[in-house]
Amino acid sequence: MHEILLHNTLSNQLEPLEPLHPGEIRMYTCGPTVYDFAHIGNFRTFVFQDILRRFLRLRGYKMNHVMNLTDVDDRIIQNAAAEKVNIRDYTEKYVQAFLKDMNALSLEMPEKMVRATDHIDDMVSLIERLQQKTYTYSSEGSIYYRIAKFPSYGKLSHIDMAGIQAGARVDVDRYEKADARDFALWKAPKPGEQFWETAIGAGRPGWHIECSAMSMKYLGDTLDIHTGGVDLAFPHHENEIAQSEAATGKQFVKIWLHAEHLMVEGEKMSKSLGNFYTLRDLFAKGYKPSTIRFLLLSVPYRRQLNFTMDGLQQAASSVERLRNFVSRIETGSFPAGGGTVADARVDNAYDAFDQALSDDLNTAQALAAVFDLVRDINTAIDRGEFRQSNVPVVLTAVRRFDQVLAVLDDNDDEKLAALGYGQKQAGPAETEVEALVSQRQQARRARNFKRADEIREQLAANGIILEDLKDGGVRWKRK
Ligand SMILES: [Zn+2]
Repeated sequence: MHEILLHNTLSNQLEPLEPLHPGEIRMYTCGPTVYDFAHIGNFRTFVFQDILRRFLRLRGYKMNHVMNLTDVDDRIIQNAAAEKVNIRDYTEKYVQAFLKDMNALSLEMPEKMVRATDHIDDMVSLIERLQQKTYTYSSEGSIYYRIAKFPSYGKLSHIDMAGIQAGARVDVDRYEKADARDFALWKAPKPGEQFWETAIGAGRPGWHIECSAMSMKYLGDTLDIHTGGVDLAFPHHENEIAQSEAATGKQFVKIWLHAEHLMVEGEKMSKSLGNFYTLRDLFAKGYKPSTIRFLLLSVPYRRQLNFTMDGLQQAASSVERLRNFVSRIETGSFPAGGGTVADARVDNAYDAFDQALSDDLNTAQALAAVFDLVRDINTAIDRGEFRQSNVPVVLTAVRRFDQVLAVLDDNDDEKLAALGYGQKQAGPAETEVEALVSQRQQARRARNFKRADEIREQLAANGIILEDLKDGGVRWKRK
């Protein structure tokens, strides 16, 4: 196994993963703000952190992973007030939608999912600690963080704070501040909007204090890993550092990981360009959850991902290729006897897969390792070099890789049906097709072309098209 190296935004370097508590990873992910359905750009980040946690679990680490649901936010409070409902009622449908979307994309549930509205007391005590250490000031009923008192502000995003003038708009808070860089820890109530009566006054927490309070409550003063989208590095994560480190006097996070943006057809995703997609928009167009997951994971997280309809087609055929391969191995019958060709090939694939993911989660390389194995074993089968005794070792390898990739289970139709999309696929089941394809391959090898043609026609009548490959293999797809 290879040493796991991750690119720390804080040092701008690859660093070895050395958990504070041996064998355990304490990790925090900024979750969605639940005032709308999450879009595919959000899910790029969530798929990345899922790949990370799955890989770390595969490597034997125990995960202690917390994700928050931001259910207190200016927009949420305004929208809830406009609909005359309380925050919990307003956000509930988006919380449920997010959990269903996570399930559709096979995202593992973090060990803890926490809501801001359940942790107001923790936020208030953290603000009180900052008040005692004089990092705060009050203005018109709100409480602000005084950035001038935290000299290392900017160390994460590497921005030059001197360049940001007083009066420039940095944060979106519409409140009176002493310095434009300062941000609200606690916001005074506005007429008609929900607020909490607390020891530091009436009001509601700022977004940044939510994450500091909830992460440290469950993971301790110092976290091993904190993840998020690159747009969160400044000011959100910078502010989390300022709050947490001022309160504890300790390093808040050892390794910060940020996923790059997602583009759609080469352009920034925006509602006005008509290229803005939630998962549900894509499900409605007939794309499968596994296809979307595959495309989102296929590009290493620090590279910009260009999400295209062509890319979705390719992702769909890659997933199908992997599933076809497994059912070919599972349902095929191969000559008896020994042979170590497959064993050596599988060992290489294990090593290449682990090396790729250990190298700052290079998912593109990891996929290459998997598909190289698929190609080589398919070739061995076509040449009659694959033995029945090789079956378990190959299946074990592919399933082990799938503990990270999570695209092998053919449950897309059920997932879509559960969300109210799609209908059961017409035509024969995948395993039936695979069995016939395998019989036809045997017939061809035995030079029984009449039987091979019969099977081809039978499949064609059921909407299955076969494509014979140059290497003797065969690919199939539905018409
Ligand atoms: Zn956060």
